[in-house]
Amino acid sequence: MKTTLRGVGVSHGVAIGEVRHMGTAMLEPPAKQIPAEDAEREQRRARQAVEAVAADLIARGNLAGGEAQGVLEAQAMMAQDPELMADVDRRIAVGSTAERGVYDAFASYRALLANAGEYLAGRVADLDDVRNRIVARLLGVPMPGVPDSDQPYVLIARDLAPADTALLDPALVLGFVTEEGGPTSHSAILARALGVPAVVALPGAQELAEGTVIAVDGSTGDIFVEPGAEKRAELERAAAARKAALSASTGPGATSDGHQVPLLANIGGPADVPTAVEAGAEGVGLFRTEFLFLDDSGRAPSEEKQVEAYRTVLAAFPEGRVVVRVLDAGADKPLAFLTPADEPNPALGVRGLRSLLEHPDVLRTQLTALAKAAEGLPVHLEVMAPMVADRTDAKAFADACREAGLSAKFGAMVEIPSAALRARSILQEVEFLSLGTNDLAQYAFAADRQVGAVSRLQDPWQPALLDLVAMSAESARAEGKSCGVCGEAASDPLLACVLTGLGVTSLSMGAASIPYVRSALAQHTLAQCERAAAAARAADTADEARKAAQAVLSGE
Ligand code: PEP
Ligand code: MG
Repeated sequence: MKTTLRGVGVSHGVAIGEVRHMGTAMLEPPAKQIPAEDAEREQRRARQAVEAVAADLIARGNLAGGEAQGVLEAQAMMAQDPELMADVDRRIAVGSTAERGVYDAFASYRALLANAGEYLAGRVADLDDVRNRIVARLLGVPMPGVPDSDQPYVLIARDLAPADTALLDPALVLGFVTEEGGPTSHSAILARALGVPAVVALPGAQELAEGTVIAVDGSTGDIFVEPGAEKRAELERAAAARKAALSASTGPGATSDGHQVPLLANIGGPADVPTAVEAGAEGVGLFRTEFLFLDDSGRAPSEEKQVEAYRTVLAAFPEGRVVVRVLDAGADKPLAFLTPADEPNPALGVRGLRSLLEHPDVLRTQLTALAKAAEGLPVHLEVMAPMVADRTDAKAFADACREAGLSAKFGAMVEIPSAALRARSILQEVEFLSLGTNDLAQYAFAADRQVGAVSRLQDPWQPALLDLVAMSAESARAEGKSCGVCGEAASDPLLACVLTGLGVTSLSMGAASIPYVRSALAQHTLAQCERAAAAARAADTADEARKAAQAVLSGE
């Protein structure tokens, strides 16, 4: 393997640590028949694997203590259940391999649990986890899901789904490297939310052996395999110098000649608030509420649970602005109880606002919860809908907000090119626009944001994307309304200057990027930003646009 690899850097900073792989999805072991004389050996293998998994669960429970210990011990008991073990033995005796015997015995036990009342049905996920551990051990493959480790590590994955991310312990993840995913994938978004360096779209990432030490430079996209002491020191020095320079920049976002551009945070829930406040966010520009809906209960969270989560966020920004996006389910964020299972092309199907208009009860509960959460707080609540295609969509959303008695500004995300093209018409129904450049790029370039192979087209510097941004910002200005950016484009410091030059009125990003963007804006006048924007739009490729803007801003 080469010693330097290059992917796409999507979250600044340097991480140095050992590689741990995200386990792949559980494969069903093949149902092959074994000769009778192998049965005893396979039964022994199965028992050894079960005992090892149970011992591991107990050891991890001892380490974790508290409530987690109880859960892990209960899982260990499940693994060793004598009836389950007897069933595994029986299946192996009639020709199953150890892994297939375990897989099938757990499947029949699972069916029993699933039909045995709400409490036991709730344990199905724990049972699946135990089965996955035993089968993975027998197959000699990494455990599916987040690695088991009590030491900090660099996580390597094909890509990360929002559901995986809920299980990550931020204290242990030093950085991410993914094989797939572009600059707007969830891996990239999560890395920025956690403030850890990340590189995506790195071909061959999964071939990095477990335990290898790598250095990840999230600014350049470089990966150094087994870096020597000198390289490590050089990277650490550069990262520390950059951090020190950044901590000198504070206060509201503005160009050097005082043109204000509020810098807001993208958050996934109350847990992200402290980092946002610490980074000096002037409010929240995108509260992705779908993370509240991602537990495994199979239904929407209750109104009370939602009120509590929204209130915690609103209370953290007493005088600031908080823009809450209503649930954006579907496509890369499927929710079993909302998203149709059989769509031929989920990204073009019933997702975002479309899904909420088909489930008005879910939208109503969310809007009512928001209205209750904001009661009595001085915060400036703004609520916006994802995936607005036209004025009809915008009106349906505004009507739903009014019906729920919400006293807030209503807005539309511009994520579909049609919305940018007809922004003035949409602004007849709502009071602000927020550019979701991740999806806007996906739909403008017909380039799936989860596919690393098309990350070139997901590059937010693509001049056609800049044209759509300019068009939206100009429409908003003509209507006397605001137009922010909350897609990942806002987190690139150079591009943030260009977006400002294009006329966007606020920038919202993962909290860790705020100091970088603040410092870049503070070094240039609005007129320079406008010149950089014009130069970028005059280019033909993303690379040329980046270079042209850089040349203007560095005064070359
Ligand atoms: C976007 O599409 O740019 C956006 C902000 O929404 P998400 O990334 O959650 O789809
Ligand atoms: Mg989006």
